[in-house]
Amino acid sequence: MKLTLDRLEKVRTRGTKIIARCPACAETGGDRTGDNLAIFADGNFACAAYQQDRGHSRRILQLAGKKERHHADSRPDFPPPMRRHTPVQTALPPDFADLTRAARWRAYNNQETQAAIAAEFGVRAETIRILTTCSSGGIGFFPSISIGGRPCLPGRIGYIYPAGIKIRHPWGPGSRVRFAWACGSATEPWRHTLAGWRSWVRHYIITEGESDLIALVDAKIEDLSPGGGTAVVASPGTSFREEWAPLFTGRTVTLLMDADDAGAAATRRIAAMLRPHAAQIRIFNHTTPYHERHALHS
Ligand SMILES: [Zn+2]
Repeated sequence: MKLTLDRLEKVRTRGTKIIARCPACAETGGDRTGDNLAIFADGNFACAAYQQDRGHSRRILQLAGKKERHHADSRPDFPPPMRRHTPVQTALPPDFADLTRAARWRAYNNQETQAAIAAEFGVRAETIRILTTCSSGGIGFFPSISIGGRPCLPGRIGYIYPAGIKIRHPWGPGSRVRFAWACGSATEPWRHTLAGWRSWVRHYIITEGESDLIALVDAKIEDLSPGGGTAVVASPGTSFREEWAPLFTGRTVTLLMDADDAGAAATRRIAAMLRPHAAQIRIFNHTTPYHERHALHS
């Protein structure tokens, strides 16, 4: 496969294809329904809105392309086929609140589960416990959950968004599908709601994904206490939407994307969106030696 799924939004399977939001369309606010990009079983892809446009395809590759591998590991990137005509669930189930509360409670209240999740991310169990307490942006544990009618492996970690559940490694780490939405989607960066409740938060650190956020919280970079004021939020992958920019009005924002081309492109794109709103934009420079970096706390 030429594209890497974790750089895409609204990824789901339809028949033998993977459908997702076209990142090149999304860049300019298009394809909000997330139907344009089709990835075929052979790994080729097409945007339904720009079928013959090579420039558009190149842009998709720039935004979501995978570095070429030349060695033997060529296991297809493709989940096993779903039952045909299975409707893909994107709406929130009526028991969304109960489902997510139970999932957070399982991780909060069971030390074994907590320790297993902590080990997966290489952080302290206490950090996982902290991250289970927010109803609209936390970690949950799902003993059984399915996506589009297809059961995930038992015992999945889920990122709970205010209006969606994103399952980590739904078909195990052996599958290259690193996440899929069990329902809903990201309507704001992960854990923004928690920070948004606190008017004293003056500094946001935006990471490229949930696991980066978990590492920063583990390192105690976040301080949401009234005397503090630094919140970490995660843009799900490099996708960040224009409509999220006003959430950062008047605040200092530090962008902490990955140290690769996609991360650099996302940094430029997000900075441009934030510029009319944020008080100050700081860009974390991965190439600066550690001792020369500005402290992340403002
Ligand atoms: Zn497109």
